[in-house]
Order: sequence, then structure tokens, then C-alpha cells
Amino acid sequence: MPIFHAKCPCGALCLEVDGDPLHNHLCTCTRCQRASGSALSHNVWFREQDVRVLSGDYSTWFPQGERTPDVMKAFCRICGGGGFSKSGDYFPGSVVIAGGTFADPAFPAPDHVHWWNNRPHWIDLAEAIERHGEG
Ligand SMILES: [Zn+2]
Ligand SMILES: [Zn+2]
Repeated sequence: MPIFHAKCPCGALCLEVDGDPLHNHLCTCTRCQRASGSALSHNVWFREQDVRVLSGDYSTWFPQGERTPDVMKAFCRICGGGGFSKSGDYFPGSVVIAGGTFADPAFPAPDHVHWWNNRPHWIDLAEAIERHGEG
């Protein structure tokens, strides 16, 4: 995969990734809708060693009530947006970056969507994206 850059809204925090995603999927579950503030979330998982922070400072947050311990979220220290997360025990050694933060039409398409049956009625996706109705 070519190199891609993810940025927070203000642009201060910039991440560079140069490895193929481990997972590249969408999710329309209720939790992801609320967490992302969008009708669907685009979650892209990379190996930790394939992700570098090129610029910017970030703050970290360890949310309560996650399904696995040690989930960490990182946000731009200036604008509070963008960033990345680590999923703790769920997937050690990985970094999750929201696909939208790449804002690049050339970024690889997600290959499947979770919780399709929970989508808002007005959403549709390309046929090539495999749909998992539940879970
Ligand atoms: Zn979800
Ligand atoms: Zn920022």
C-alpha cells in the first residue's frame, strides 16, 4: 500500500501509515454511531509498527466501560479531534484510525460492514462491500 496520512481537523496532528490495513471495515451499530457521531463508523486497523506520528501533540484518554481493559484513545491537543486509538487486550499491537481522517479518495475501500441491519434506512453502499447483518 502507498503511504497515507491521517490528520485531525486542525491539521496539527498528522499520522503516517505505510502498511496494508489489518482490518478495514464500516460499522453501523448503535455504539459506533454514537461514538463517531455519524451514521456509520469507518474503522481501519494497522500494525503498530506501520503507524508514525509525524507532527502534533496528543492527549490520551482511557475510557470507562469498554468491553476490554486498557482501551486508549488519543486526540489532538489543540483541536481535540482526529487521533487514533488502541484496543488494549482485544487486539494487542494494533492501532485503529478512523478512515475519514485520511480524507483521501484513494484510500482503500472498506471490505465489509458490520451491523448492516441496524443502519439508518437511507444508507446504501457499493455492492462490493460485504454486509454482515448482525454483529
Ligand atoms: Zn460498531
Ligand atoms: Zn488538531
